[in-house]
Amino acid sequence: MTARAHGSDILVVGSVAFDSIETPSGSVERALGGSATFASVAASYFASPRVVAVVGEDFGDEHFARLERRGIDTSGIKRVPGGKTFHWKGRYHDNMQDRDTLETRLNVFEGFDPGLSERFRRSSHVFLGNIDPTLQAKVLDEVEDPRFVGVDTMNLWIAEALAGLKEVLRRVDVLFINDEESRQLTGERQVLNAARAIMTLGPKYVVIKRGEYGALLFGAELSLFAPAVLLPRVVDPTGAGDAFAGGFMGFVAGAAEITRSTLARAMRAGSAMASFAVERFSIDGLLELDSSRIGARLDDLESMCSLA
Ligand code: AMP
Repeated sequence: MTARAHGSDILVVGSVAFDSIETPSGSVERALGGSATFASVAASYFASPRVVAVVGEDFGDEHFARLERRGIDTSGIKRVPGGKTFHWKGRYHDNMQDRDTLETRLNVFEGFDPGLSERFRRSSHVFLGNIDPTLQAKVLDEVEDPRFVGVDTMNLWIAEALAGLKEVLRRVDVLFINDEESRQLTGERQVLNAARAIMTLGPKYVVIKRGEYGALLFGAELSLFAPAVLLPRVVDPTGAGDAFAGGFMGFVAGAAEITRSTLARAMRAGSAMASFAVERFSIDGLLELDSSRIGARLDDLESMCSLA
């Protein structure tokens, strides 16, 4: 079930970053992070990710190697001579849900022009990870005829780049968004109304993430729920959303067709990958997994959902 289905490629664009993070469990300085990083590592257990991003000269070969060891194609990550890698600094509150962004330095992302290779242009699945919607649109412009496109975003872009974000939403199959951002985007308080309002903007499906309370997927005649894996200890919630989306999109990329059951299983794949991400800092919890550890969490989630 979690074996990598070869040929199921997925193009991932987003940030590749250094993160400095404080949580009630500890802190890290300039650890490998970014939306494309978490999403591609999570997706790599189900499909073959290829990443489009930009980094600075301070991004060492060892970081590329960590991604490549997961079978991720890093040939689309440009290293800019003299440039600095995107840097994000955040601090979590005691509830491990809320966080304050202390600093966002786009650095090399400011002048980034994706420019996809021929091979990348023919990607069947695309995940537009959290980054400036203008860049998400540029990547989408270049992909020839994708079968399924997912997009993630955050409060910053809803507040500062709404028109660009709406342009992107018109062109995607699924939006991943958290509870609070769905209210910010639509002005609707009830989750059902927020999801319906988002579907009128373009996406066929909306996944609303609710942290430790799981995630919901809505479609035209469809609503699905996946619980979160209940963990005894959360070390760092950073990247949970990206890992969820990566697991979901990777699972869809590896599936022959999109049915209700595919989507339900993709939701559980997302939830399982998010749970691994939060157990350690950076991508450490997502590396070195295998199909039996992933399978055990998927089984737990499936049995939690069973009413029989
Ligand atoms: P998540 O916890 O899933 O929301 O994702 C956290 C990741 O998003 C971190 O690794 C950051 O490097 C990255 N990130 C934070 N702010 C931004 C931003 N404005 N654009 C792109 N990536 C960001």
